[in-house]
Amino acid sequence: MPIASVTVLGAGVLGSQIAFQTAYCGFPVVAYDISEAALVAGRERCDGLALRYEKEVSGAAGGAAQASRARIRFSADLADAVAEADLVIEAAPEQLALKRELYGQLGRVAPERTIFATNSSTLLPSAMAAFTGRPARFLALHFANQIWRHNVAEVMGHPDTDPAVFTELVAFAEDIGMVPIPVHKEQPGYVLNSLLVPLLNAALLLLVEGVADPEMVDRTWTIGTGAPAGPFAILDTIGLRTPYHIAAASNDPRFLKVAAHLKEHYLDQGKFGRESGEGFYRYT
Ligand code: NAD
Repeated sequence: MPIASVTVLGAGVLGSQIAFQTAYCGFPVVAYDISEAALVAGRERCDGLALRYEKEVSGAAGGAAQASRARIRFSADLADAVAEADLVIEAAPEQLALKRELYGQLGRVAPERTIFATNSSTLLPSAMAAFTGRPARFLALHFANQIWRHNVAEVMGHPDTDPAVFTELVAFAEDIGMVPIPVHKEQPGYVLNSLLVPLLNAALLLLVEGVADPEMVDRTWTIGTGAPAGPFAILDTIGLRTPYHIAAASNDPRFLKVAAHLKEHYLDQGKFGRESGEGFYRYT
């Protein structure tokens, strides 16, 4: 049965983008979050997305973005939010215990036909599958931040995902304007982060070990490969808190040096990357 109705769990940064993009492509969407306060924030994010789409997405001005916003219904009642859903996309906080608990509740209230997909960046579907009550209808559908621009959707099952469900999700990803990336086996980091994270780590090590400065690393990468941005420009876009937290949690002394460098020279000086106007580069 084709997917006609979608519910997104968690109306945070990614959940609101997934809800908005899905609505923009004509689907009725329910956005679920845990409290009225969280829903207020989710509504505001979607209002902001309507304005961004009007500016940045061709064809969105003149009513299309606002009409998409009107296709999103908000609910803080899980049973109500998923009652009609053919597909539930989960974009709740990145905590395994929280997601397991949520899938337990969801499995009890969602219709039997409903497919569940997680947008988790770092947790493998097999770590949550048993908690869904329907492992064959569960898999990952992973989006990138700023979904309307960076429109890849990585589709990744676990060993018990029904291949027909996998195929259905690949088709759905296309229906909402994504370029689907079928990932053939479970892989931490999917395809994109399996490539990107080692590049960013290598760049940070070149910096803290005094081999080259950010501008030179980025120039080497952009001129040498033709890529539009180098690793330090990418880090500024991601925001410098994320690489700091990852490096600080490492057991490797080289990455502890990276964390100390990021803290002293950037975070402690209010330089968080593009969002704060300065990171490795200055932004106006
Ligand atoms: P976020 O903190 O912005 O949003 C999480 C939302 O979930 C909040 O609105 C919160 O109120 C809500 N929430 C809390 N408890 C919940 C529960 N029990 N059930 C449902 N919702 C609950 O986080 P985010 O950045 O949107 O990340 C969400 C997921 O998306 C994570 O799994 C993350 O790995 C993934 N992701 C994030 C990015 C990114 O760039 N931020 C990119 C790709 C994937």
